[in-house]
Amino acid sequence: MKVRVAIIGGGPAGLMAAEALTARGIGVDLFDAMPSLGRKFLMAGKSGLNLTHAEPLDTFLSHFGEARGHVENAVNHFPPEAVREWALELGTKTFVGTSGHVFPKSMKAAPLLRAWIRRLKSRGMCVHVRHKWTGWDEAGALQFETPDGLKTTMAEATILALGGASWPKLGSDASWVPALKQANVKPFEPANCGFNVEWSDFFKERFAGEPVKAVALTADDIRTNGEFVVTEYGVEGSGIYAHARTLREMMKDKGEATLRLDLMPDVPLEKVIARLSKPRGTKSLATHLKKTVFLSGAKANLLRECAADKLDDVDALAGAIKSLPIKLTGARPIEEAISSAGGVSFEALDDGFMLTAKPGTFCTGEMLDWEAPTGGYLLNACMATGRTCGVAVAAYLKAA
Ligand SMILES: Cc1cc2nc3c(=O)[nH]c(=O)nc-3n(C[C@H](O)[C@H](O)[C@H](O)COP(=O)(O)OP(=O)(O)OC[C@H]3O[C@@H](n4cnc5c(N)ncnc54)[C@H](O)[C@@H]3O)c2cc1C
Repeated sequence: MKVRVAIIGGGPAGLMAAEALTARGIGVDLFDAMPSLGRKFLMAGKSGLNLTHAEPLDTFLSHFGEARGHVENAVNHFPPEAVREWALELGTKTFVGTSGHVFPKSMKAAPLLRAWIRRLKSRGMCVHVRHKWTGWDEAGALQFETPDGLKTTMAEATILALGGASWPKLGSDASWVPALKQANVKPFEPANCGFNVEWSDFFKERFAGEPVKAVALTADDIRTNGEFVVTEYGVEGSGIYAHARTLREMMKDKGEATLRLDLMPDVPLEKVIARLSKPRGTKSLATHLKKTVFLSGAKANLLRECAADKLDDVDALAGAIKSLPIKLTGARPIEEAISSAGGVSFEALDDGFMLTAKPGTFCTGEMLDWEAPTGGYLLNACMATGRTCGVAVAAYLKAA
């Protein structure tokens, strides 16, 4: 088989590359290892599908950290408002939640994905599912494992949109890494992941599954307000994910990491001391904490769990309430992470995300070496880099 443009990977990055190309009248052949497209996108829809974030663009871009310079141009051309307009064109109205996160009104991904694929097919996208890309043959043809055996395809240009390495059962299993030696792939690591904590049996039996809301979390001097969930194995949730990169780095240095919690982020230490100094009488500590500083449930028991030696002294207890150390003993496996860090090095790519060592082959989406917290940054950047790739391929074909 011979095609003009092969896009491999039918997640949001590959589909947005197809959108940019088909909108320019260029038909594409899209290949995916799975029996259907967009499985991770659909999974994201199960927790509300946070498509993007409505904060100012500069703040939005700051969440990409060191990789900002590499994704900035792509995001500038497909910023959060463009994501919302695109969704609306496909019949999905969006809304901005209280924290600025943007969701479809229906909170679902399936109607949006269905309408998107339908439109792409009507514009000239031909889909080949159950085609797992394994590399190139000696003649330079793309090789696919299919239920009918090995197949090869020659393409004038190829876009690889193969995803990262988290949740491999949804299709992105990073098995392509050995085939892409030209890409200087940085090892994949869990990003937006939970962490292990050695909770006592009492604490995990009593509080696993409980949310801990309205706290401030600090890792290595970076402080954010947020929330998390206590789990059997440790901690999980958006407040933790925001620090995952820092915690991962701390663990590499020291084998463990300490996350500090401020259980009363809006109350200064002196006020906490003043409130705790009220006479306790014969009241239990639990009642005293509840009456003076309004701490109960998981929050109060976190104090017992992580600062047992500070409970009898007012100043020490107040200090623990404002800066409670939680010792993390390891990151959860990449299979459970929302996304992965690592991937194709930007040094191996030009501005249109083409591999300089393999002209005509482009890479996009989560398989590139950038990471960001959850909150719509991942999907927006995957679609934005997909769009940039599509535009770059159109220019490449024109110049050829
Ligand atoms: C539970 C969960 C919730 C999430 N929620 C959100 C959210 O609310 N907001 C947000 O911004 N992000 C969220 N994400 C992250 C987001 O879904 C991903 O970052 C995004 O889907 C990545 O897009 P992609 O196109 O780069 O890769 P993917 O979506 O992973 O798509 C890659 C495609 O490539 C195919 N593929 C892989 N290898 C091969 C191969 N060798 N041959 C052929 N095909 C191959 C796969 O089958 C897959 O279809 C969530 C992720 C998870 C797991």
